[in-house]
Amino acid sequence: MTSQFTIVELGEAALRRVAEPVTAIDAPDFQQQLDALIQFVQQRGGMGIAAPQVGIAQRFFIMSSHPNERYPYAPEMPITCVINPQILWHSAETDKDWEGCLSVPGLRALVPRYQQISVRYWLRDGTLIEADYDGFIARLFQHELDHLDGKVFVDRVESSLDMMTESSWYKLLRSTAKET
Ligand code: ZN
Repeated sequence: MTSQFTIVELGEAALRRVAEPVTAIDAPDFQQQLDALIQFVQQRGGMGIAAPQVGIAQRFFIMSSHPNERYPYAPEMPITCVINPQILWHSAETDKDWEGCLSVPGLRALVPRYQQISVRYWLRDGTLIEADYDGFIARLFQHELDHLDGKVFVDRVESSLDMMTESSWYKLLRSTAKET
């Protein structure tokens, strides 16, 4: 089955809108949208996708962390629907690491993110979650939350020298993999 979604890319106004809170988590059409978006992110092999990336101006995203070629160190995590998320606290310390985005094809960049965050969000069954994240999941969460505020990772890049094309990045990844 092919997906009903198309990715909104950098340059399209829909990617820059501030999304509205989800008001009815248990609404059947919202639940169906979640199922469809989970299927879509799995088809694309993404680590996550935020609703505005498929033109839905609502505050939710899917986290789908799993190790793959781009992120061999990504933790295996059950697919999680993150609804109406907030960051309650963050560390002062930041880390830079590589990110990419389905909405910015062909580009990778080193992006500074808070090392640790405390967050609150709702699951699709209406459960309120309060959790502490660090490392890869903290980065993923911050990346996806930015999309709900109309921001993309390139907005946070400190220097154009921290950017590279995806093909250059793959060359770098393979050469460092050989050394270790
Ligand atoms: Zn993204």
